[in-house]
Amino acid sequence: PAEPDLQALQHADVARLLPVPTPESDKYRRGVVGIAAGSARYPGAAVLAVSGALRGGAGAVRYVGPAGQAVIARFPETLVSDQGPHRAGRVQAWVVGPGVGDDADTVAQVLRADVPVLLDADGLRLADADAVRSRTAPTLMTPHAGEAAALLGVAREEVEAARLASVRELAARYRATVLLKGSTTLVAGPDVGPVRVNPTGTPYLATAGSGDVLSGLAGSLLAAGLSALDAGSVAAYLHGLAGRHAAHGAPAGAHDVADQLPRAWRDVR
Ligand code: AMP
Ligand code: MG
Repeated sequence: PAEPDLQALQHADVARLLPVPTPESDKYRRGVVGIAAGSARYPGAAVLAVSGALRGGAGAVRYVGPAGQAVIARFPETLVSDQGPHRAGRVQAWVVGPGVGDDADTVAQVLRADVPVLLDADGLRLADADAVRSRTAPTLMTPHAGEAAALLGVAREEVEAARLASVRELAARYRATVLLKGSTTLVAGPDVGPVRVNPTGTPYLATAGSGDVLSGLAGSLLAAGLSALDAGSVAAYLHGLAGRHAAHGAPAGAHDVADQLPRAWRDVR
């Protein structure tokens, strides 16, 4: 029989994939995630991406960029530096893009790293397509419909009308795993196989900064050793549950979603 096109994410599959520490774990073995996000204009994107990363199972979060003071004020456990990604110590996965504005050099530096990279927001626009395609380590791209449309050179409505075809097309073009955000988040790998569908979302997640939390969370899961397909799937699932908790009967902000991630994690375990 032909393989199904779509596969709904199941609670049990997500539970099996959560990176749970063992007695042998130390912070380096749990993974270090690097966050290259934010700018003088958008410091909040850095704070929100770090907030997601701290709840994603990596052992440490390293922030690189101009918003270190804002990050530290909220999350003192973050390792911060303003020296650029190529000068950062060892990281097991990078998140680059949320709120970086026009800092194309940071994006290019991260794409040269030989570790998994999550590319989001401004990073999607600034990334050189060949630099993405020629990477040997996994790449996870997380566009919303508007960002996906810009990458494909079509109108946003065309992506919304053909979400499955769009996510597959992007994954093939960039030889990357692509997580297409929206009312039903889809995750497609670069190779054949079903596209994963996340069932946990809520329209209350349509709020500024919500995607920044998701990118940090998924990056942390990459650093903990999940494949790009699994990291994107688990992140979307937990993010959706956290959104439901945060918006339980009332609207909430993106930082509220991040604060509910531990509860979402406990729901799944
Ligand atoms: P961003 O646009 O980057 O801030 O990301 C928005 C986040 O909210 C993504 O995780 C989307 O999947 C989610 N989202 C946006 N609109 C909806 C919706 N109508 N239903 C469920 N989730 C949504
Ligand atoms: Mg976004």
